[in-house]
Amino acid sequence: MITINELIEMSKAELEAERNIDKDYRVAECYRKFPELAAMDGDLVELRKSAMIASLEGRDDYAGRFGSKEAALRQKRENYLRDNNIPADFDSEKFICDKCNDTGYIAGKDGTRKVCSCMKEQLEECYDNSGMRDYRSVKLESYRNGYLGDEAGRKKRMNMILSACLGRGDNADKDIWIYQGAPQTGKTFLTIVVAKGMINLGKSAIYCKCEAIEDMEEENIEDLKICDVLFIDDFAADISSRRKIAYILNTVFEVRKASGRKTLIVSYETQNQLVSDCDIRLAGKLKNAGYIS
Ligand SMILES: [Zn+2]
Repeated sequence: MITINELIEMSKAELEAERNIDKDYRVAECYRKFPELAAMDGDLVELRKSAMIASLEGRDDYAGRFGSKEAALRQKRENYLRDNNIPADFDSEKFICDKCNDTGYIAGKDGTRKVCSCMKEQLEECYDNSGMRDYRSVKLESYRNGYLGDEAGRKKRMNMILSACLGRGDNADKDIWIYQGAPQTGKTFLTIVVAKGMINLGKSAIYCKCEAIEDMEEENIEDLKICDVLFIDDFAADISSRRKIAYILNTVFEVRKASGRKTLIVSYETQNQLVSDCDIRLAGKLKNAGYIS
């Protein structure tokens, strides 16, 4: 899987090219408006060339003369810039994004590193690659806890899920969490928002439906093991107990536990139901899971 951090890294070359094109454009515009400046800069280049040749030919005594000529020309240029209100840095590269200085990250409220809004394209690509292609319409910016009523309850659950995924707060050591709720209460919506939120914090996250695990390619199963946070939606005892799914999940949970990675299981069944009806190996793990309902 390509993580958001890797996508941001890959965008660096493009940003560098963009800064360069932007600079060239600004310089060309400025020279068009102020031909005298273009001439002075041309003279400066010529002067430096001559000084270099003189130095290569061992006519070092000429260097002093070139030096004072250059200083005079530079002074003239400085005055010209000032008199015409031309910014002194008109010919230097500028950051495309002032918010993050083209690093792709900004500091969040609590000091955490967040992906900058200029990386919107990279974020969208990452959401798609992380199993959320079908949820493009779920936007973090427009998410409201009160959307389906019970604003306070939903806000509380949202905070508990965020803490669980980040390994903060009560039971921070638990690696598996069950988020239980009745059907049609917006569990998927909330889960997608949290999954996208994790990616916005620079983490790798995967969202999948429990049933889809049965037909997953080997490399995607590997991703389930190594992503920072894993979200398994529509988790149900009967589905997870299918031989192949039970086998894969058991391995995935073992690997994730060993590396302290967090998994959120989303189900309409309660923890007790899951523990009593799931495959015995999974039941043991779910018994010790954190519970949010
Ligand atoms: Zn930015």
